[in-house]
Amino acid sequence: MTLLKIAQIGHPVLRERARELTREELLDPEMQQFIDDLVETMRDASGAGLAAIQVHRTVRIVAIEVKDNPRYPYKPNIPLTIVVNPVLTPLSEERFDNYEGCLSVPNLRGLVERYAEVSITGMERDGTPFERIARGLGAGTFQHECDHLDGVLFIDRVKDPKSLSTWTEFERHHRPAFLEKILPFVKKMGG
Ligand code: ZN
Repeated sequence: MTLLKIAQIGHPVLRERARELTREELLDPEMQQFIDDLVETMRDASGAGLAAIQVHRTVRIVAIEVKDNPRYPYKPNIPLTIVVNPVLTPLSEERFDNYEGCLSVPNLRGLVERYAEVSITGMERDGTPFERIARGLGAGTFQHECDHLDGVLFIDRVKDPKSLSTWTEFERHHRPAFLEKILPFVKKMGG
């Protein structure tokens, strides 16, 4: 396993559009090794997700895993999920405000509006079809990661720049109000 270098905001690679992978490219042992490294890098950085483009590889692969995440203790767990060439479709007009952060945007969080329910289709890492419906905060995580593949960062979607906060100031000043809104939403959406 190799820990990969995570691109930081300002690096042009984060603004590129990642390209689709063919099934043959995906099944190449080198690409499979890369996916293992992507997962290892995400876990090492305590990320809830990591897109290939964030580690300087402009292909459409995202990894997501939430397991009692210290960065987001209120997030329901999501088992390790790899999606290749993900296509995301909102299932309703309902949206919610999520306080997001990103491994490529150091020490900053901000409120972003996300769809509450989405479907994701694509390929599993073994090339078989992937299909899932994600709700609540999980839906937000998929939207955040899929945005990366189109060169979009969460700060592009922050509605009110006054919501921007370092992680320490979030804990001090924004966490209680956010939890008051998000916990009933998590309960309602079951995720
Ligand atoms: Zn991110």
